[in-house]
Amino acid sequence: MTASYQDLAEAPAPAWGGDDEWLECVRVRDETHDVRSFVLRPLQARSFRYRPGQFITLRLEIDGEPVFRCYTLSSSPTRPDTLSITVKRVPGGRVSNWLHEHLRPGMRLSATGPAGAFCFPPGPVQVPARGQLYLSGGSGITPLMSMSRAWADLGLDADVQFIHAARTPQDIVFDDELKLLARSLPRWRATMVCEDRGTTPGYSGLLGRLTLPLLRSQVPDLLEREVWCCGPAPFMAAVRAMLVEAGFDMARYHEESFTFETPADTAGLAAAPAPSPAGTEAKTFAITLKTRGERFECGADETVLKAAQRAGVRWPFSCSSGVCGTCRTRKLGGEVEMNQGGGLRPREVAQGWMLPCCSKPLSDLELDR
Ligand SMILES: Cc1cc2nc3c(=O)[nH]c(=O)nc-3n(C[C@H](O)[C@H](O)[C@H](O)COP(=O)(O)OP(=O)(O)OC[C@H]3O[C@@H](n4cnc5c(N)ncnc54)[C@H](O)[C@@H]3O)c2cc1C
Repeated sequence: MTASYQDLAEAPAPAWGGDDEWLECVRVRDETHDVRSFVLRPLQARSFRYRPGQFITLRLEIDGEPVFRCYTLSSSPTRPDTLSITVKRVPGGRVSNWLHEHLRPGMRLSATGPAGAFCFPPGPVQVPARGQLYLSGGSGITPLMSMSRAWADLGLDADVQFIHAARTPQDIVFDDELKLLARSLPRWRATMVCEDRGTTPGYSGLLGRLTLPLLRSQVPDLLEREVWCCGPAPFMAAVRAMLVEAGFDMARYHEESFTFETPADTAGLAAAPAPSPAGTEAKTFAITLKTRGERFECGADETVLKAAQRAGVRWPFSCSSGVCGTCRTRKLGGEVEMNQGGGLRPREVAQGWMLPCCSKPLSDLELDR
């Protein structure tokens, strides 16, 4: 693909998506010793359209097996010709290590998306009436970086207080760019909190963990703001506890989880289905996982994913709404009613793939899992 200044002045290219899912890696950049950004572009002339904070799902084949993982777009849609993901190596992790070790400029990979609700609201982007508080831990900085980059590119003077927690100063992802943003945007401020000084000489930032007194001292008008939080599960649990203790209105709290089980999932999704009214016995079906040799019951009115979670089956999932494709599995027998939102292509559905997060059984099922 080529681009010229003339191209740039013309109407935007059609949007990327649908069946042209292939992307080419054009650049790889080390952000820290274990975090790397990958810049991707479409194979055909297409623009990327998404909302800051959304993610894509990579579809890779590793050792002959298909694997799927979601990665937030750390880039901003204000620069629609490429997108970037920023990946932290997870010890023992299959995909993050594969990406670090193998993905190089010129290589191609398949992806779907964008998806996700941890993002700017739809419609024209406006400076929010209320001040924003971005709280991130580790690689959870990616969606908040996309949002911050968008404010800068759009020339909008949003009131953003950004607090990023890292293990040591060497672990601060986008350190240089955070400083640049703070210099460029009048009401955008960033504070770093590191658990340990590490080996950085002269680090003069805050030391320790994020606590409520620290939060209050950095953000005196905390209770007036809208909070966006992304980071490891214990970090987000600590933030929620602090906000509740501070009397924050949790209706103004948003969070994104990079892991499969969030407290909301275990509290809500795994709850037993409501009892049926007297005299009407709820219909249940048997779900058999062929490879794992496990079996559990699923009510006709609940999704296969909910029933699996209740039965204690660990099942990777992300969006819970049939969009990201993380939970996909192949049906070997039986029928489901699937209400998916684009996580599977029609040809995949025809091949027997299903998404348990948005499928209710119509019969007993045997799944290839
Ligand atoms: C919406 C969303 C957005 C995300 N955005 C980002 C992002 O911007 N940047 C980013 O870095 N990540 C992001 N993630 C996380 C990402 O999708 C992956 O989960 C992450 O990279 C780890 O994948 P992996 O394949 O390397 O690890 P996995 O292979 O999935 O392993 C994860 C952990 O489980 C352990 N494990 C694996 N198999 C087993 C087993 N059988 N028994 C016990 N332990 C096991 C591994 O040792 C490892 O510690 C996002 C996730 C979601 C859901």
